[in-house]
Amino acid sequence: MTKYIFVTGGVLSSVGKGVTTASIAMLIKSMGYNVTAIKIDPYINVDAGTMNPYAHGEVFVTEDGGETDLDLGHYERFLNTNLSKRNNITTGQIYYSVIMKERKGEYLGATVQIIPHVTDEIKSCIRNVAKEYSADVVLVEIGGTVGDIEGLPFLEAIRQMRLEEGVENTLFIHVALVPTLRTTGEQKTKPVQHSVQELRRIGIQPDVIIARCERPLEPEARRKIALYSNVPPEAVLSNHDVETIYEVPLLLHSQGILNVICDRLRIEYREPDLARWVEFVKKLKAASKPLNVAMIGKYTKLKDSYISIVEALKHASAYLGVKPVFKWIESTDIEQGDVSAQSALEGIDCALILPGFGRRGTEGKVRAIKYLRENGIPTLGICFGFQMMIIEFARNVLGLRNANSKELDPETPHPVVDLMPSQHNVEFVGGTMRLGAKPIKLIRGTRVYEAYERDVVFERHRHRYAFNTKYVDVFEASGFIISGFSYDGVIEFMELRDHPFFVGTQAHPEFKSRPLAPSPLYMHFVKISRDRSAR
Ligand code: GLN
Repeated sequence: MTKYIFVTGGVLSSVGKGVTTASIAMLIKSMGYNVTAIKIDPYINVDAGTMNPYAHGEVFVTEDGGETDLDLGHYERFLNTNLSKRNNITTGQIYYSVIMKERKGEYLGATVQIIPHVTDEIKSCIRNVAKEYSADVVLVEIGGTVGDIEGLPFLEAIRQMRLEEGVENTLFIHVALVPTLRTTGEQKTKPVQHSVQELRRIGIQPDVIIARCERPLEPEARRKIALYSNVPPEAVLSNHDVETIYEVPLLLHSQGILNVICDRLRIEYREPDLARWVEFVKKLKAASKPLNVAMIGKYTKLKDSYISIVEALKHASAYLGVKPVFKWIESTDIEQGDVSAQSALEGIDCALILPGFGRRGTEGKVRAIKYLRENGIPTLGICFGFQMMIIEFARNVLGLRNANSKELDPETPHPVVDLMPSQHNVEFVGGTMRLGAKPIKLIRGTRVYEAYERDVVFERHRHRYAFNTKYVDVFEASGFIISGFSYDGVIEFMELRDHPFFVGTQAHPEFKSRPLAPSPLYMHFVKISRDRSAR
């Protein structure tokens, strides 16, 4: 019998529900149970792929090619496992399938309504994931904030699930903000009380309240929350700010969250095996030698746009005893001449050329890459960043004037980056990029092979354009060589022969980097950068 834990959020969004959900999932898994986690996003987009990272943060790509919410990245990192695109459910998907069923006549004769048709569809999507993973416990995080109009059908669906699955098989956890008044230093519980009331109004009584606060929850605040929310005090937990998100599971565990969960869900409590996690957190916190990493991109104002890359660098750095210090460089600033590449990159140890789409800022990236290449600074280009490395090399080393990607300049005389043949007949924008994990053959004797020490690796993708293979020979003749390719003909890795580390990849290895399994490529990049900066 699968147990369901539903996580809702109160007061405001971005309160840390994703990390909290991931943390609880990880703790239960550490007791030896089979756990999976679902993110529900109440927007009408079918998936996150059509949303601007400015508005919504990174689009996380799953092994099976789903373009999902960045919370799936948290789940995968904490659970140390691959999840499927089916672990991200949106309003768009639900309506899409309800409408398709209606057209096929599956509801023939009925008036199709939110209750029961939409709520049935939601419940069946959740249960299907439970079945697919043969999960003992499924965590379901409802995106947004309680009280949002968009979230109502989902809250109604989980309310029904308690009746259908039984009280001992369902648990409601509410994560809400407890602000501190700057003037008095007092923790205010009224917003939590209100959001719990809102939940109750739609028929959900939370079993556990997790208070997000700056400092540990005061006993008085805990008492009040317990009283007004109608839960015992031991079911009110403090999720206060800690140095790193990877401490959150340990923080919740220290307050006995597993006892509460096991008790309510009637599952056997087992001592969780957290040894490796604790070890990682220790390393992460102990690593003190700064490594100055330039992050060159155009969505740098919202750091969540590149969250998996940031986390991958943190994972690798923890194991290598350095602390990454991120210097965010807006490539449009270099492009518009507000700063020179040289002064923007002053004092950095290594650079990440970030992924992206569209023309803005690309000339700035090219200028920065020229500086990095000429000055032997370790550089890793991801996807679009890799494509920019190709363009820079074509123009400045091969002398191919106005070389470019067809994405940026359809009229370029030297399309060194071109639309992939598989993309020529693509009609719809949503879900049609080259997506998900592909096997990549690595070439021995290269830096990339040195990183992975394997002949074949699987990395994830999200792109339409790629290195134009007509140019392979000229590039290789000048020292920018291929270090890996896919069986479908896409050049996946390239690197500069005479450079400490100048590697570009069409893939996104950051999506598979986890605290307990850091990405080999990021590890090698950080290691070489560290050793070079120590000189
Ligand atoms: N815009 C580029 C492409 O579609 C790169 C995409 C990316 O960086 N994820 O190929």
